Amino acid sequence: MNRINNVLQTPALNKRRKRAPLFAKCLQFTRAADLLAADLYPYFKPLTSPQGPDVVCQGRRMIMMSSNNYLGLASHPQVKEAAIDAVRRYGTGCAGSRFLNGTLAIHEELEQRLASFLRKDAALVFPTGFQANLGAISALAAKNEFILIDKLNHASIVDGCRLSFAQIGRFRHDDIDDLERVLQGAAGRDALVVVDGVFSMEGDIAELPEIVGLCRRYDAGLMVDDAHGLGVLGAGGRGTAEYFGLDANVDVMVGTFSKSLASIGGYIAADADVIDYLKHHARSLIFSASLPAPAAAAALTALDIVENEPERRQQLWGNTRYLREGLEALGFDIGNTKAPIIPVFIRDEHKLLRFWRALFTMGIFTSPVLAPAVSANRALIRMSCMATHTVDHIETVLDAFEEAGKQTGLVP
Ligand code: PMP
Repeated sequence: MNRINNVLQTPALNKRRKRAPLFAKCLQFTRAADLLAADLYPYFKPLTSPQGPDVVCQGRRMIMMSSNNYLGLASHPQVKEAAIDAVRRYGTGCAGSRFLNGTLAIHEELEQRLASFLRKDAALVFPTGFQANLGAISALAAKNEFILIDKLNHASIVDGCRLSFAQIGRFRHDDIDDLERVLQGAAGRDALVVVDGVFSMEGDIAELPEIVGLCRRYDAGLMVDDAHGLGVLGAGGRGTAEYFGLDANVDVMVGTFSKSLASIGGYIAADADVIDYLKHHARSLIFSASLPAPAAAAALTALDIVENEPERRQQLWGNTRYLREGLEALGFDIGNTKAPIIPVFIRDEHKLLRFWRALFTMGIFTSPVLAPAVSANRALIRMSCMATHTVDHIETVLDAFEEAGKQTGLVP
C-alpha cells in the first residue's frame, strides 16, 4: 500500500495524470511565482521566534511592524502560563462543536467575562473572529431583510453577507449621507448596519455617533466589528463604542482574540436573546469544532491585563503618535489613520513592492497591501505599533523609511 502511495505522489506521474479542466486556472496562476522569481514576493515569510517587537525571519533579526499584537501580550509570561495550564487541564483540542460535546467550562467563563467587560448581557465565543462574522451576519439577516455595509468593511463581513439571504446595500466608506441614501432604499424593510469600528487597512475609525443616530432614525440594528478597537481604544480598552461613549447603542459587538488578546478566537456580545438565537442558528459555530482551551485561557488572562495595565495602552499610543508624526515629517502619505494601524499609501503596485523589499532588506518587517485587498490606486504598506516597541525601534524604522523612500524615489 505504501509503495502504491509513493508512486502516486511522484511528481512526474502527476504531471502525466489527466486533470479535470477546472484545475487549469491553478496552472495559469503565475503571479506569485513571477514575483518570487523577481525577488519581490512578500507573503508567507516564516518566523522562528515569538511575535514580539523583534522577530527572527529567515535567520535574521528584524523589527516587526506588521503584527496585530498591539499590547505585546502574545509572549507575556502570564498569558503563556495560562495557556499551558489549560492544556494540562483540558488537553489540546475539543474534538467537537460547542453545540454537542465541545463546550468547556472555560468557554462559559470567558463568555461571562467578555459580557461583563463589554457591558452586554451575554457573549458567545467562536473559533475565530472570521467565523463570528460569518455566523452572526448570516443568522441575523434573513430573507427579505436588508444588510448595509461600508465598502471598506473586512472580508469576513462581506462573506457573512454572501452567506445571508438578505439583500445587501453598500455605502461609500465613512460617508454618512451615502449610508442614509442606502437606508432610504431599504424602504421600510428590517435592516442591520454593519461597520468595522477601526478599519483594518486604513486605521480610521467609524463615525459611530452619526451612524448610531441614523440607525435610530431608520430603526435599523447596529453591529460593530471591533477587531482592532478592543484593548486599544477607550480609557478601559473596551473599544470603539467606549471611545465614543456609545456602549449601550451598539446592538451587536464582534471581536477577535487574535490581536490585543494574544490568542485566536472570536466573539459576539449582545442582548441575551440575540446570543441565544445565535447559539442555535450560527452555522459557523454549530458546524465547526470549538475553540481549544489554551486559546480561551490565553484570551481570559490577556483580558485581565487589558483591564489592569492601562499603561500598556498609553505606551502603544505614545509609539503610534511618534511613528505617525515621523512619517508625516518625512513626507509620506498616511491617510486618515486614527489608530495604531498606520498605512503608508504608495498607490503604485510595482513601486510598493520595491519599497517593501528595500525595507525588508534593512530588517524592517512590514506588510504590502495590494489589490484585491485594496483597489490598485490605494496600494499601501500597512504597519501597526505595539506597546512593546521602544523609541529605538521607531527611530530605526523612520531611518529605514527615509532611506528606502530615497532609493525608490518616493521622497526627495
Ligand atoms: N474583522 C476584522 C476587522 C479583522 O481585521 C479580522 C482579522 N484580520 C477579522 C475580523 C477576523 O478575525 P480573526 O483573525 O479572529 O479570524
